[in-house]
Amino acid sequence: MTAVRMTAWQKSPEVARVPVPEPGPGEVLIKVAGAGVCHSDLHVMEWPAGTLPYGLPFTLGHETAGWIHTLGPGARTAGLDEGDAVLVYGPWGCGVCPSCARGAENYCRRAAEIGAAGGGLGADGGMAEYMIVPSPRLLTPLGDLDPRRAAPLTDAALTPYHAVKRSLHRLVPGSTAVVIGVGGLGHMAVQLLKALCAAEVVAVDLSAEKLDLAAGAGADHCVPAGEGAAEQIRELTGGLGATLVLDCVGADPTLATAAAAAAPESDITVVGLAGGTLPVRYGTLPWEASVSIPYWGTRPELAEVVALARTGRIRPHVEVFPLQEANEVYQRLRDGLIAGRAVLVP
Ligand code: NAD
Ligand code: ZN
Ligand code: ZN
Repeated sequence: MTAVRMTAWQKSPEVARVPVPEPGPGEVLIKVAGAGVCHSDLHVMEWPAGTLPYGLPFTLGHETAGWIHTLGPGARTAGLDEGDAVLVYGPWGCGVCPSCARGAENYCRRAAEIGAAGGGLGADGGMAEYMIVPSPRLLTPLGDLDPRRAAPLTDAALTPYHAVKRSLHRLVPGSTAVVIGVGGLGHMAVQLLKALCAAEVVAVDLSAEKLDLAAGAGADHCVPAGEGAAEQIRELTGGLGATLVLDCVGADPTLATAAAAAAPESDITVVGLAGGTLPVRYGTLPWEASVSIPYWGTRPELAEVVALARTGRIRPHVEVFPLQEANEVYQRLRDGLIAGRAVLVP
């Protein structure tokens, strides 16, 4: 089968032929419908050897949906059958530590021992015709959702869902939530905020096309990124600032905008991994602002995201490409030319 393989650090992946894997005891073989193309993959390709604790090679694709092809010996579970459409929950923990036991495998306490974050991040992922998932517990049934269009739910939606959910108690009517960077994660964050709370939603991006997409996704206001962005957000909020700033970029200028646009007692939540710095000392942040850097989301939250999608309240904007074009699609993502999320289809 064809697979998109990371074979060396700081190099583009190779589109290669590899054998179709066989599911071992407890494992599930997924026939891939689509794999989302996440900006994190660009970081994985750019960061030098030793940054991530993964061995090479492995197949990319940590945002995967497909159909159950074969349940390995002992993997049969009530509620899952061959042919069912499923999402693959991405962060693969040990399954038994206290974090995993409550479904928060994104914070597995044995992550260091495991040495891979999940399929597509150290273990073989979904940019292939087939993929092995180590346990049926890592599958979320999709019902009648089209798995190609649903693939981004596992990361582009789950990550901002987890991030936003932490702040919902503050996002009362009259409050404002800002999403900086309305690409794959950000355009879902806008939809999630509109579905989950009464806050006014402000989208911020460098690109006018991305802001148009955000407006289509329900953003109440669109603000061009840059020097004047924080001031514009202050004006929109009657001088108070935003109750939540969700930074889906995480670079120096976006973090500076976040700090300058936030209200007292606000949440500045950084999911973007661009590596910028936010100074924390008296005078750099509003009083009692909380800064957090959440990672991905939990298994129960993925089921909640799917429930939202099944009622039509969130819908990823998807551009579909053939798997063989992976490197061209990564280049388009790097150049800012993907609207919403690209999905590679084998
Ligand atoms: P993307 O490329 O689809 O979207 C990024 C968006 O940010 C684009 O619309 C781009 O125009 C915009 N942008 C770039 N620089 C900007 C700036 N200075 N000001 C305003 N907007 C700017 O990327 P994505 O797949 O949505 O991922 C976003 C970030 O989130 C990446 O760093 C990725 O690695 C990270 N990520 C983190 C987690 C997590 O669990 N914390 C999960 C997934 C992705
Ligand atoms: Zn990702
Ligand atoms: Zn664990």
